[in-house]
Amino acid sequence: MAVSGFDWPTPLSAYIHVPFCRHRCGYCNFSVVADRDDLIARYLRCIDWELKQLDQPSIETVFLGGGTPTHLPLDALKTLIGIIRRRLTFVGDVEFSVEANPEDITAEKLNCLVDGGVNRISLGVQSFAADKLKLLERGHSGASAAAAIEMAAATIPNVSMDLIFSAPGETMAGWESDLKLALSLPIVHLSTYALTYEKGTAFWSRMTRGDLKTTDESIEVDMYQTARRMAADAGLAHYEVSNFAKAEHRCRHNLAYWDGRGWYAAGPGAARFVGGLREVNHRSTTTYIKRIEADDSPTGESEAVTPIQCARERAAFGIRLMEGIDIDRIGKEMGVALRDHCSDAIDRSVAEGLLEDTVGRSRLTERGVLFADTVATRFLG
Ligand code: SF4
Repeated sequence: MAVSGFDWPTPLSAYIHVPFCRHRCGYCNFSVVADRDDLIARYLRCIDWELKQLDQPSIETVFLGGGTPTHLPLDALKTLIGIIRRRLTFVGDVEFSVEANPEDITAEKLNCLVDGGVNRISLGVQSFAADKLKLLERGHSGASAAAAIEMAAATIPNVSMDLIFSAPGETMAGWESDLKLALSLPIVHLSTYALTYEKGTAFWSRMTRGDLKTTDESIEVDMYQTARRMAADAGLAHYEVSNFAKAEHRCRHNLAYWDGRGWYAAGPGAARFVGGLREVNHRSTTTYIKRIEADDSPTGESEAVTPIQCARERAAFGIRLMEGIDIDRIGKEMGVALRDHCSDAIDRSVAEGLLEDTVGRSRLTERGVLFADTVATRFLG
C-alpha cells in the first residue's frame, strides 16, 4: 500500500514480540506479562494469524524480542520458530536474532534455536555483581550468567550481551568489574544502557518517593566513557551510541530500522512501519489476544507518515551511528529537501560543537556523542 503517493520500499525485516517473563523487573517498561504462561498457546495462534496476513514476505532479518523469548517452554519455542519459518520467506543470509535470559539457557533450548535457523543470540545479563543483580531484580547470578554466555557461544557464536550502568549506589569500580568480566567472555557485540526510570514502573515510584537515588550525571558520563574505552581495548568498535561490535557483527536488524525500508512486526505492543503506515499493536497481551480471537485487528494506534517525517526520523536515528549520515542522500531517497527542513537543527548543533557537517557526511562530534538525544530530537523538528 502506498501512503502519501510515495513509493515506499517493501520491508525486508520482521520483529516478533514475545511478552512472557518469569517476573517483571522493577525498571522494565516493555509490553510484558509475568506469571501468565497459561496464555502461551493462545498467543502462538495469534502470532500465526498475524504473520499469515503478510502473505509470505521475503525477509533478510528477523528479531525475536521481548519480554523473554527463551522463557517459552521448549515445545512452545519450537512452535513459534516453526510459525516464523512457515509464514516468512527467508532470503539469502538471514540474520535471525533471539533475546534470551541467562537462566533459560539449556542445551535443549540452544539446539532448538539453532535447528530453527537462529544465528544470533542476545543475552540480558545487565550485571555480574550480586548486589546490583538483586537491586535490578534479575533472576540469575553473575556465575550463572558467565556460564550461560560460554554455553551459548559454543552453539551460536554470534553472542551479544546487554549491560546496565548507573544503577543506584553503583561505583565506578563496580562498573569496571562488570565490563572486565563481560569483555573476557566470548561475545562479539555489547550493548550498554544507563538505567532509566520510566513513568509507570516500580523503579519510578521508588525513585519519586526517595527510595532509589539516581546517579549523578557526571558519574554516568564517566561510566559511559569507561565502557567506550574498555570495549575499544577489547576490539569491539563503537558503532552506535549504545552499541559496540567486532568486525562484521553489527546488528543488521537494528541497522535496518534506520534505512527507511520499514519492517513488519507482530505480537503485543509491537510497532511496525509498512508502506508509510506506522502501526502499534495493543500493549496488553490479553487485549491483543482477545481482539485477534474475535477476528478484530490487534492494531491499537495507526499513523500515516509523510516522506519528510520519515526522512527526519531516519536522520534522527541514523545520527546515533558513529559513522553519521548522508543528509542529502536521505533527502534524495525520500524525495524531500531534508537539509532545508533540518537547517536549524544542523546549524545549532554545529554551533554548539555537537555536530560535524561536511559534504556527504554529518556525524556527532566527541562532545556530541554525549548529547546524541538532543541532536536527534532536533532532527525530528
Ligand atoms: S526480563 Fe527483560 S523484558 Fe522481562 S521484565 Fe525483566 S527487563 Fe523486562
